[in-house]
Formats: sequence, C-alpha cells, structure tokens
Amino acid sequence: MSRQEASHVVMLPSPGMGHLIPIVELAKLLVSHHRFLITFIIPSSSSPPPKAQEAFLQSLPEYFDYILLPPPLSDGSFDENGGPEAQICLTITHFLSLIRVALATLTKKVTLAAVVIDPFGIDIIDLAKGFDVLLYMHFGSAAINLLFTFHLPRLDEEVEGEYRYMQNPVILPGCVPLHGKDFADPFQQRSSETYKRFLDQCKRFNLVDGILVNSFIELEPGAIRALQDDDPRRPPVHPIGPIIQSVLNCEVDGSGYLNWLNNQPSGSVLYVSFGSGGTLSCDQFHELALGLEMSEQRFLWVVRTPNDKSSCPSYCNAQGEADPLEFLPDGFLERTEIRGLVVPSWVCQIQVLSHDSTGGFLMHCGWNSTLESIMHGVPLIAWPLYAEQRTNAVMLTEDLKVALRPKANGKGLLDRDEVSRVVKVLMEGEEGKRVRERAKELKDLANRALGEGGSSRKAMAQVAIKWRDQRCSRNQ
Ligand code: UDP
Repeated sequence: MSRQEASHVVMLPSPGMGHLIPIVELAKLLVSHHRFLITFIIPSSSSPPPKAQEAFLQSLPEYFDYILLPPPLSDGSFDENGGPEAQICLTITHFLSLIRVALATLTKKVTLAAVVIDPFGIDIIDLAKGFDVLLYMHFGSAAINLLFTFHLPRLDEEVEGEYRYMQNPVILPGCVPLHGKDFADPFQQRSSETYKRFLDQCKRFNLVDGILVNSFIELEPGAIRALQDDDPRRPPVHPIGPIIQSVLNCEVDGSGYLNWLNNQPSGSVLYVSFGSGGTLSCDQFHELALGLEMSEQRFLWVVRTPNDKSSCPSYCNAQGEADPLEFLPDGFLERTEIRGLVVPSWVCQIQVLSHDSTGGFLMHCGWNSTLESIMHGVPLIAWPLYAEQRTNAVMLTEDLKVALRPKANGKGLLDRDEVSRVVKVLMEGEEGKRVRERAKELKDLANRALGEGGSSRKAMAQVAIKWRDQRCSRNQ
C-alpha cells in the first residue's frame, strides 16, 4: 500500500505525559493492526519542553510524523492557580489557530480518515468540522468517569450547593456509589470558572462521532454497558483498553534503579510514585518517608520536590525544581540504604512494574498508572492527589478490590504510623494476599481483552472499519 492509499489519522494529545503516552500507544496499535498512517499535532506547554517529553518524542518510531506546536507567549490569561485541568484547557485554546493551520496544511497533502482529540481538546470540535473529517475522542480515563461526565449536566440541574455536602451518593448504573467528596477536582467548586468550563465541555461530548475509552468491558462491565445503552444523546462508545506504555520507549536507566531491582528478592519491593506531576506537601513528604522507614519493607521511591501550595505544580512543566533529596528527613538515606532506593523525579515506570522484584505500588491513582499496574498484576495502595484520582481510588478499593486505602488523621495527613501499617499489610498481611490474588485475576482478564478475539481488540477493529469506510466514501 502506498502512502497516498493508506488511511491517515491525526492525533491531538493535550499537554502532559499522562495524555501523550496512551495516545501514542493507541497510534502504534492503529499502525500495527490496521495499517493507518498517523500524524501527531502536539501542543507544547513550555519552552523547552519537559525533559521526559522530549526524550519520549525522540524515541518515537520513525513511521510516525509529528508537528510540535511552540508554546504561546504568555498574555497573562494562563491561570497558574486554576489546577492542571484549567491550565490544559487554556493551553489548548491558545493553540487553536496553529492547529487550524496544521490541519489545513495536512489536508492539502493527504485525505484524512479521522482526527482524534482528548477531552481537553473539545474546543477543536468546531474547527475540525470545517475539515469534514470524522472526529473521535480518546477518553484516557476510567469508563465510570466518562459515564459521570454524561450525567453531570443532570446533576447540575438537580443539586443545590456544593456536591461534597450531598446527603446521598450518586449511583451511576452498574457502578460503585460515588460521594460528592470523591468527585474530580473541577467539580468541587461550582462557582469557579473551571467548573463552568467543564460543565460546558461535558455537554459538548455528544458532538463527537465516537469515543474510544481506555478501559475494557471485563474491568468495568456496569459503566461500559450503561455507556453503550441506546441513548441518542450519546455518541458510540468503544472500550479499547488497556492501552499502556511499552517498555521500548524507556530511556537508558541513568540512576541505576534497574540494577538495584535486579538484586532484590522476587515480589519484595514497594514502588512509590505519584505519576508525572503528583507532589506532596512538605509535612506529607516527611511522614511518607518516616512511614516507609518504619515499615521495614523494601522500597523504590520516585521523589519529587514537595510543594505546600499545589498537589500538581509540575504537571505541565517538570523543570526548574529544587533538589527533592534535600527535603528528606535528616539521615533518612543513610538509615534506609540497605532496603530502599530513592530516585529523583522520574523512572521508566513500566520497567519497574514489569520487574519481578516489584511486589506492590503506592500510587496516586492516575489512570495510566492504574492500567499499567493491572496489566502487570501489581497490587496497590491508593493515595489519590488531584484530578479524577479520588473517583479511581474508590473504584480500585471498593469495587475492583485491588487496592488498600490508608486513612488520613484529623489534620488530613496520612501520618507515619498509618503509612507504615498499610505498607506492611500490603506486603506481608492477609489483606495484602487478597488484593494480590485479585491483581492477578485482573491481569489475566486484561490480557484476554487485548488478545486475538478479545473484547477490546474487536472494538478497535470495528472503529478501524468505520474510519476506512469514511475515507473510501470521501475518495469516491
Ligand atoms: N511515568 C513514568 N515514570 C515516572 C512517572 C510517571 O514512566 O516516574 C509514566 C507512567 O508510567 C504513566 C504516566 O507517566 O504512563 C503517568 O500517567 P498517569 O495517568 O498515571 O498520571 P498523571 O501523570 O497523568 O497524573
């Protein structure tokens, strides 16, 4: 098949590794299983781009084209305090004219089958319609969050006041009950601009031609069936996951963590990490360190400089931080060196999760990290920080039963005793054994969904057929 004959798809991820990684992995499947040609249009949130993103883009296979859009000059409207979601939405808005130019240039050269955006790129809808192309959304979070999104406009009409004060939880069909305090961050302050913007965006989700959700029917049967029930207000929803980062994208391990892991007993190490931007307060950082020490378990901890103002200050720009090691308790590194390794800022997580020595993951419940753990059968400690992570934590602990959840003290802190307790239970206790077994079961289900004849493989094939048909009809 020549380049001209192949079907061409444009993918438009929002800033942040958590958005870029899964959409690139989806693109790889579209190339290897369905022979599409892919161009990424990638908006940069900072100049120079975050190091991890730069390395990731450089490692992309040659068969991908990508257009890196330079970051906009700040005009003061970039809201540093609005949380990562507000920042990302504003970033995308700033890029609209550049995206239009990029799409116009591409459509002069090739016939596009589809443009794939993510939820933060919903403003691209009007623009893409001008190019007469199928517009799909890649929803890189749990199906329960997608279902919630469709439910939000009704909730907004029915409920007075902040959701966290609601007497009763929201019960979405087939899902674990959700209390208002567990809703995603943008829904916690209804008078905020971020809430209004998200509400408006949720109402526009039904304008896309289809939604690819990075989940699988065996993991979230209730939510996915509810999303697929006939409802003319909703576009078709295709569960195509779990699509996760491949080990091949990893940089060389400069910190020696793989070597260290190689020397630890099988299943003995607790991996501790809060995603690409998750950050603890100084007090919480201190308590976590002392809790890990008290637990006397082996650990590999990816540390990020603590910050008392925000739980994700570095989501869009992971550079320019102070040395996180300086914030550790005095003597911590020396006292724990026989059983712990601390790595500043970044490891190749997928290598760690697939390593035989890794026996647990204390994590922030980001959806990619969740799926990566499930694919590798790693049991979890759920420590949500921001975005939709509290909802994911509820699902992981109360519904899927693959995670333990530590309890905060009266000051909202997970203190050292609680950290030590939950770590010991996961690594050595009876409850730990149960979540470990459950993690293995989910791993098998995930692999089956992706395998030949599996539910997600079939769902992706159906989408590929639609996209090809669209391209053929355009060319006639
Ligand atoms: N990640 C990684 N190394 C790190 C931290 C994160 O490789 O030190 C990867 C992780 O494997 C996942 C992504 O970054 O693919 C984080 O996505 P997630 O949805 O879990 O969280 P987010 O960063 O979006 O909050």
